[in-house]
Amino acid sequence: MPLLLLDLDNTLLDRVGPFRAWGEDFLRQVGAPAEDIQWLLDVDADGLTDRWDVADALRDRYGLRASSVDLVEELHDGVVAHSRLDPMVACALKITGEAGWVPVVVSNGATRQQEAKIRKTGLDRYLADWVISEEAGVSKPNPRIFAIGAQRARMRLAGAWMIGDSPEADIGGASELGLRSVWLHRGRRWIEQRYAPTYTADGTIAALAAVLGG
Ligand SMILES: [Mg+2]
Repeated sequence: MPLLLLDLDNTLLDRVGPFRAWGEDFLRQVGAPAEDIQWLLDVDADGLTDRWDVADALRDRYGLRASSVDLVEELHDGVVAHSRLDPMVACALKITGEAGWVPVVVSNGATRQQEAKIRKTGLDRYLADWVISEEAGVSKPNPRIFAIGAQRARMRLAGAWMIGDSPEADIGGASELGLRSVWLHRGRRWIEQRYAPTYTADGTIAALAAVLGG
């Protein structure tokens, strides 16, 4: 039985759409102009910016009285509330599981938020297990977090595949361990010279198909 490691944000679950939906609601509530959404998306940087820095940027720009703790919580809960599992992705995961693959999510992020997304969307029904960087104490691309993911499913890393959209965290991490990988390009070109994915795909379903056929 082969192990299949999967990234969460913008791989199994869309994050851009939920963050934008939350952001538009939030800006309306604080009376900010709708076009500020572009500023907020830039600050968020696809989720790479530390949440505390995003909260501070919001407080400064709009003179908010809310505490940073509350804003960070709202940032987390807002994305969770808008997250949906694409039924076609669920179907493809089910087929992958039935074909004998053991799917385990390896995600960088806050444990409470990432677990809430996994459970509330129903994604947990299609996974053997998951590991989140905050609780693991180590983040992708560090090989240790991939090893923890394998351990949770009582699997060996040898022969595993990794699917993800981050060149460094997902593909770089897999490459360091000698794992095969599929990169979701999301309209970007591959520019990293030191390593490369086994396959490039234009979406999660195509990526799963590549692994099944691979
Ligand atoms: Mg991602």
